[in-house]
Amino acid sequence: VSKEERQAWIEKDRQYVWHHMLPYAASQNPLIITKGDGAWVIDLEGNRYLDAMSGLWCVNLGYSNRELAQAAYEQLLQIPYYPMTQSHLPAIQLSEKLNEWLEGDYRIFFSNSGSEANETAFKIVRQYHAQNGEPTRWKFISRYRAYHGNSLGALAATGQAVRKQHYEPLAPGFVHVPPPYCYRCPFGKSRDTCEIECASIFEQVIQWEGPDTVAGVIMEPAITGGGVIVPPPEYMQQVREICDRYGVLLIADEVICGFGRSGKSFGHQNFAVKPDVVTMAKGITSAYLPLSATAVRADLFNAFKDEHAYAHFRHVNTFGGNATACALSLRTLELMEEMELVARCEELGQRMQERMMSLVDHPLVGDLRFFGLIAGVELVSDKETKTPASPEIVGRILAACKSRGVLIGKNSDTVPGQNNVLTLAPPLIITDEELDLIVRVLQEALQEVH
Ligand code: PLP
Repeated sequence: VSKEERQAWIEKDRQYVWHHMLPYAASQNPLIITKGDGAWVIDLEGNRYLDAMSGLWCVNLGYSNRELAQAAYEQLLQIPYYPMTQSHLPAIQLSEKLNEWLEGDYRIFFSNSGSEANETAFKIVRQYHAQNGEPTRWKFISRYRAYHGNSLGALAATGQAVRKQHYEPLAPGFVHVPPPYCYRCPFGKSRDTCEIECASIFEQVIQWEGPDTVAGVIMEPAITGGGVIVPPPEYMQQVREICDRYGVLLIADEVICGFGRSGKSFGHQNFAVKPDVVTMAKGITSAYLPLSATAVRADLFNAFKDEHAYAHFRHVNTFGGNATACALSLRTLELMEEMELVARCEELGQRMQERMMSLVDHPLVGDLRFFGLIAGVELVSDKETKTPASPEIVGRILAACKSRGVLIGKNSDTVPGQNNVLTLAPPLIITDEELDLIVRVLQEALQEVH
């Protein structure tokens, strides 16, 4: 369209649309995307951008996949929707497929978003304990810097002060511990000599809170939106052992790390742990339709079978498990299997890491962190003092990438002044050449700004 036509759309957008997350000024000149093509998106004026963030860490199969569209279309004609108080074939097939991917025995409860999947997990875990003879267990432990969703419980689990301002009080019963943030170790240790205090702190906090009051721990296998914080390899297993010792259930939030993104089917599989509950969304449908799931260890489900005293899970979600979304999700997972995308993701992750090592000596680059096909570049203004780079510098680098046709991300608001981690999470279908282009552009942007 012409410049004038674009401007007219922008005016309407300004008049009617409330953008997610962004401060007002930053929301005034949005990209208006009209088309997608593999890893690329195309705006109203026909400009093409390589989407190095897969939207919001979710369009794992890239845009405009006709087979996904076809799967949804066929299901819409068959039966678009029926409530999950009953059942339908796509939900049954998808639940079975998720169990294969999880390599375990889980019952699946469907919702629409990652936040809802986590809310559902919190309710199930509390009710489980109540019906398992331990009604005093109601608290959850999560990490500072983690993001678990926008609703009052999921936001309470979130460890990012800026996200909570003006919305408190949130749900009570959420306790936070420091994250496994080796670059700025909260315990003042260095990786060579530390004893993974970031894991043992869970035991300390469980004791301080009172072991019979703690219901669960929720964690992403690696913190993603909070700044790509990847734990030491032993960390998640140690937390699992502590949970077992105190009868606390472990919830893995796989909303971003799941579905191949980490180089394994699910992020926790990198650390050889079995969570009690796994929450998932985003990549479950490659974001083509809203869907999320809360997978609960099958033996925990037994506590919900009693016919008396409202022992069943009294929770309904009108759209949760929408048949079209389930059919599309099933096709997503089948396509990933056919294309061997999980193994490909591991390969791409290694390539990205190798290529990005060229950035390590740049004066603005304090730390580089990787988890599968996720990268975090922590920017500093001084490598010695590790002073976080200013929002202005971060903004200029993002803009320099955009002007070269590559969209990269940054970590979500954590605490003021610490939004200094650039993030990359390109679609898993990206080519080697496209991946190299992202790294090259990032390198140029860093040179331009510094
Ligand atoms: N959990 C994690 C780790 C996330 O990154 C997000 C969203 O970014 C959520 C939960 C919430 O998911 P949704 O935005 O679908 O509610």
